[in-house]
Amino acid sequence: MSASTSSVERVARLASLIRAAGSVVALTGAGISVPSGIPDFRSPGSGLWENVDPMEVAHIDAWRADPERFWHFYGNRFQTLEGKEPNGAHAALVELERRGKLDAIVTQNIDRLHRRAGSARLVEVHGSIDTSSCLSCGARYPIAEVRRRLDASPISVPGCDCGQPLKPDVVLFGEWLSQDALSEAYALAAGADVLLCIGSSLEVHPIAQLPGVTRQNGGAVAIVTQGATPWDSRAAVKLDGDVVAELDALVAAL
Ligand code: ZN
Repeated sequence: MSASTSSVERVARLASLIRAAGSVVALTGAGISVPSGIPDFRSPGSGLWENVDPMEVAHIDAWRADPERFWHFYGNRFQTLEGKEPNGAHAALVELERRGKLDAIVTQNIDRLHRRAGSARLVEVHGSIDTSSCLSCGARYPIAEVRRRLDASPISVPGCDCGQPLKPDVVLFGEWLSQDALSEAYALAAGADVLLCIGSSLEVHPIAQLPGVTRQNGGAVAIVTQGATPWDSRAAVKLDGDVVAELDALVAAL
């Protein structure tokens, strides 16, 4: 890939790859939600995790040992995410799916913005804040009900009808990823002619493994991400402009 290749040419190249592909799968990370006002928590100075150690407060052991402290932190996180709306990049993926150009989205994001934008086939490998569950009786509650119980609780811990504290259906530190979600993500990556990696540094497991799975099975890796990734030199196309502008241009070029 020549450094002098213009952005327009790279978008055109990605569009032709997608037109020729039998299966296109998108893999999305925090970068696609930044235009919605959700900071990438691994970016320095983004605020969310500045005064806490996420490995400590967002750990399953913390939820078990001290639900009050856990929900004090997580309740803030809910509030940060609840008011946010999908942006043009989420909408562009809905449009690709509608046109039959996108089979599925595998996302690391827990913010449920793909779901709210209207994407149909979605694999949320780290879970989602959309629901919270009771690990004792298995009951599951939608986010609006969890919010109501959180606000009504004198100790700010949303509880199940059975009396136990609820746990958000996101994968906390110290928890295993869902085997079903993982299997589906690997199968999609293996079957993809184009794996379209958007807004991800491609450094966090299991997302980091998926480009390799696609390549081993003969597919191409395309990257729409600001900043470097370990896959840049092996990517068929790398777009590093604003994620909304790049995906709008892609949709227009198809
Ligand atoms: Zn329960």
